[in-house]
Amino acid sequence: MTAAPSARTEVKRVPERGVYDRVTIDAILDEGYLCHVGIVQDGSPVVIPMLYARDGDSILIHGSPASRMLRTAKFEGLEICLTVTLIDGFVIARSAFHHSMNYRSVVVFGQAIPITDEADRQAALDKLVDTLVPGQVPYVRETTEKEAKGTLVLRLPLDEASAKVRIGPPKDEPEDYDLPIWAGVIPIKETYGSPIADPDLTHDLTVPDHLANFARTSR
Ligand SMILES: Cc1cc2nc3c(=O)[nH]c(=O)nc-3n(C[C@H](O)[C@H](O)[C@H](O)COP(=O)(O)OP(=O)(O)OC[C@H]3O[C@@H](n4cnc5c(N)ncnc54)[C@H](O)[C@@H]3O)c2cc1C
Repeated sequence: MTAAPSARTEVKRVPERGVYDRVTIDAILDEGYLCHVGIVQDGSPVVIPMLYARDGDSILIHGSPASRMLRTAKFEGLEICLTVTLIDGFVIARSAFHHSMNYRSVVVFGQAIPITDEADRQAALDKLVDTLVPGQVPYVRETTEKEAKGTLVLRLPLDEASAKVRIGPPKDEPEDYDLPIWAGVIPIKETYGSPIADPDLTHDLTVPDHLANFARTSR
């Protein structure tokens, strides 16, 4: 699927790094779990970090109905800009100016709509948990009605999205390549440690397989 950029998603700065196909966009979204959601509230911008999960052609975010952003979105939806950033490496150049980062990022614009149907909201919450910690939904006790009611879930369509991708070595000035200065890339990898048991565990439990082998990304 190749989508054309909209007026506001077209990457203008270093346009050759802009990607608009859903395969690339979905792959970035599925590897990440942390997004930053930007809104304008009372004329002032605010950007809040949140967890998210992609659900087909949309992104799910959730939180307390008391949170400022979700409260604002509660009834009629909310125009937001959501970004996801995966960082792959520090790009070390021969000049300070040409230092950069290797990255894959996504920017999505759209109206985040609250999920009001109870069953849909529960399914969305399960999708969020199971995407972030695969295998956890059937393992934990069921969500109570009170817990479900106390959680607001918003759905942001992926209709207007762009990706921007930088890969490879530094791009230095032609005359600088002869300088005796090391240049290259320092890769960045995310790793997960061994699970640490809650000291308040009341049973002698081994770590379930889906948590012992926790590795939710391919990075
Ligand atoms: C980890 C990381 C570090 C960065 N560090 C810097 C920095 O220090 N300084 C700096 O100037 N830039 C940095 N960038 C690039 C930055 O994200 C912007 O692309 C750049 O600043 C141009 O912004 P703009 O609004 O002028 O772009 P424009 O090209 O005018 O943006 C137009 C549209 O392109 C899309 N777009 C722009 N940037 C991105 C993106 N990163 N991912 C997906 N879609 C995008 C959006 O839909 C946007 O509305 C960094 C990017 C990443 C991922």
